[in-house]
Amino acid sequence: MNVLVLNCGSSSVKFQLVNPAGKRALAKGIIEEIGSHNAFLTCQVNGRDEIKKALEVPDHDAAIRLAHSTLLHPEYGVISDPSEIDAVGHRVVHAGEELTDSVLVTDDVIEIIRSCIKFAPLHNPHNLCGIEMAMELLPGIPQVAVFDTAFHQQMPPEAYMYALPLTAYTELGIRRYGFHGTSHGFVAAAAAKELDRPLEELRMITCHLGNGASAAAVKGGISVETSMGFTPLEGLVMGTRSGDIDPAVVLYLIEHEGLGSDEVNTLLNKQSGLLGLSGVSNDMREILTQAEQGNEDAALAVDVFCHRILKYVGSYAAVMGGLDALVFTGGIGENSPRIREKVCARLAFLGITLSEAENQRNATSIGSGPTAVLVINTNEELAIAQDTRRILREI
Ligand code: AMP
Repeated sequence: MNVLVLNCGSSSVKFQLVNPAGKRALAKGIIEEIGSHNAFLTCQVNGRDEIKKALEVPDHDAAIRLAHSTLLHPEYGVISDPSEIDAVGHRVVHAGEELTDSVLVTDDVIEIIRSCIKFAPLHNPHNLCGIEMAMELLPGIPQVAVFDTAFHQQMPPEAYMYALPLTAYTELGIRRYGFHGTSHGFVAAAAAKELDRPLEELRMITCHLGNGASAAAVKGGISVETSMGFTPLEGLVMGTRSGDIDPAVVLYLIEHEGLGSDEVNTLLNKQSGLLGLSGVSNDMREILTQAEQGNEDAALAVDVFCHRILKYVGSYAAVMGGLDALVFTGGIGENSPRIREKVCARLAFLGITLSEAENQRNATSIGSGPTAVLVINTNEELAIAQDTRRILREI
């Protein structure tokens, strides 16, 4: 079975043709800077040289047509006929409270995704566009929607409720939804396999540390707490997002500094986090290099980043009544021994001790204490392809 996985973001479309059984991508590509004059396509087909092309891509419709024609291209494509695509799996950011698992796309599902545009205005419209275009380009081929929010939908009310007037939840839908669910679910399952223990009996904290970053407390395979909230702005320090701040800071900026809502939005989402603190970059590699060279602001950014993770790990261990495994994933979690070491250095009280050699070489199992510490490479595209296969088998 070949699954076309589509991940339509605000200015990019990522696509992969994945064989979920073989756990491998036959082709992967990305179309970036959609709508600008600098749009470009990068695509790699199994084993061959990567192609890179500057192209005119005015909108997401055009980008999805381009992904489709790239896969079918007589010279550098990977398939010769659309019938070689058996299903399409779509990454969809928000399903609100309506859907707790991946689903076959139907008219009702499309309506649910549309109704959640108010919660994810930068993502759900593009995700919907991906679904509609795929229906047009690949008529009759089943489509499955896989949601970032779904994995967190079993959190208990005490975890997802904010202490606002109850009507904020009952009338406006304001609550913690959580994101990165596909990644947290995927690495939690992979970690259980690695430990050769049933997922159902494990208490794990999964730390997805990339340009976006979030932590989840996964008890018995179920997300019982997660750091991103009503939007993906809450929680850990991220590349350009602030993560947790006192909400009164927003009021202060508006009332005393005269900022408008767009400016506050930009400040919190685009100018904060590692970039804001370091003044250097949103890229952890660059920040670590600068910190090593004595840049104090870069060092501070690293300290705040790790301290925040530490706070979440401690509180999530308390929420679950203990911890069996701490799991690192995402670009930083998978590749930075320094960050893992800094976080774990203060976790001996949870039974965590790092094996230095294993940590340095990004091994899968890097703990030498009673609590496991794992580095698991996330693969959201494979997770979406596998979920698509599972849903189609169940119907
Ligand atoms: P992602 O969003 O998951 O692709 O992760 C991107 C982040 O991973 C960026 O901040 C990169 O700097 C970071 N990253 C990738 N490789 C490394 C590395 N070897 N050491 C530290 N950070 C890394």
